[in-house]
Amino acid sequence: MTTVSILGATGSVGRSTAAVLLENPDAFRVEAVVGGRDAEALAKTARALRARFAAVADPAAFGALRDALAGSGIEAAAGEAAVLEAAARPADLVVAAIVGTAGMRSTHVALQQGQAVALANKESLVCAGSAFMRDARRHGTRLLPMDSEHNAIFQALGSHTADDIETMVLTASGGPFRTWTAAEIANARPEQALAHPNWSMGAKITIDSASLMNKGLELIEAHHLFGVKAEALEVLVHPQSIVHGLVTFRDGSVTAGLAVPDMRVPIAHCLGYPARLSASTRRLDLTAIARLEFSAPDFARFPALRIAMDALAAGGTCPIVLNAANEIAVAAFLGGKLSFPGITDLVSRLLEAMGQAGERHAPGSVDEALALDDEARRRAAEHLASETSFSSRSVSMNIVPDASSFGEEEKIEAGLSSASTGR
Ligand code: NAD
Ligand code: MG
Repeated sequence: MTTVSILGATGSVGRSTAAVLLENPDAFRVEAVVGGRDAEALAKTARALRARFAAVADPAAFGALRDALAGSGIEAAAGEAAVLEAAARPADLVVAAIVGTAGMRSTHVALQQGQAVALANKESLVCAGSAFMRDARRHGTRLLPMDSEHNAIFQALGSHTADDIETMVLTASGGPFRTWTAAEIANARPEQALAHPNWSMGAKITIDSASLMNKGLELIEAHHLFGVKAEALEVLVHPQSIVHGLVTFRDGSVTAGLAVPDMRVPIAHCLGYPARLSASTRRLDLTAIARLEFSAPDFARFPALRIAMDALAAGGTCPIVLNAANEIAVAAFLGGKLSFPGITDLVSRLLEAMGQAGERHAPGSVDEALALDDEARRRAAEHLASETSFSSRSVSMNIVPDASSFGEEEKIEAGLSSASTGR
């Protein structure tokens, strides 16, 4: 019996994790579940999974969580300390699936316990990759990649190490704007960017997939996870999302990880590891798919990918600035305060203003990374404020209040959840 905790249990990855656990009720016991602010959804998940402890990040949601859990015997708690307690409670495996740098501290706390961490929260590695990998080694923690591309590569790698690898390829579906012209992309609205062709995911990563920023963040994630140099990391656009990652070894052999685009596949791999679970996901039928296409990414229409690759190559604090500016910009885009190309513009402007990598080193600790993240967010918000004063005339307004809080993500996530669930 494996004991599991889920950070970000009410999100897209969290719900898919719950689905895999519920398919294997005899193999798992759930210790703790964490959500942002949707107490009802969290209580429902906690009850379904028979968790012992449920923590909601928003202190104002405590009463609702306590009421919703009344009579269940599940302990309710709220606030940041409660989230960290959930991450620290003894478990064999902690699923880190909070979105954004909001998940960095709790993921790190779980890692420090020395129990295995299944990592969906890529922003942790983007912002503090060196510190995370060092601390994982120090505490003997196994970091299992849950991100589909990294999970595929992890499986394709087998026992080989970075020395044997010539190149590592992450594939990208190309997102909803793969075939759009630059002029069309310039006028893209949030609902168009949220309509991902292959994956059903949370709002933030869906927007990142439309700009290809997600693939840039994933290159930085892969660099830290697998110890591969920036020059050896490549991106291929692959609209079918069947081949998720490929490794070319120095002897010319290529191994790849394939599966239907459904997060329950990498999730089941992480939950079962090193054994294999049974899962009822749709099976890969290559005859039905018939064609697998690959092409080079178009940096002209998707400049975010190039900017992220440059940030990876520059190192230092660049990846933190990139990520923080992107989180602010995506929230502004979803809130109707920024155009779609405005996301990448804000990121590159902030990198120009703050990204002198030579002057500041990559953070040596999570505290340092969070302080830099804070500063970058503040500066990004300032840039945004000065920008929206002129750009608001050209952007169609659809203002959602307080788009930068986690409540917004859940609101959009709720809107999305009626769409396809984890194809
Ligand atoms: P989501 O928006 O659907 O869910 C995010 C979860 O985090 C929710 O449970 C939310 O309540 C919680 N949360 C938000 N802010 C919080 C805070 N301050 N404190 C505590 N909890 C908070 O996001 P998602 O799509 O499930 O993605 C989660 C992470 O997994 C992201 O880092 C994403 O990049 C990564 N990821 C997602 C997918 C996918 O298919 N969705 C695939 C690969 C990687
Ligand atoms: Mg991915």
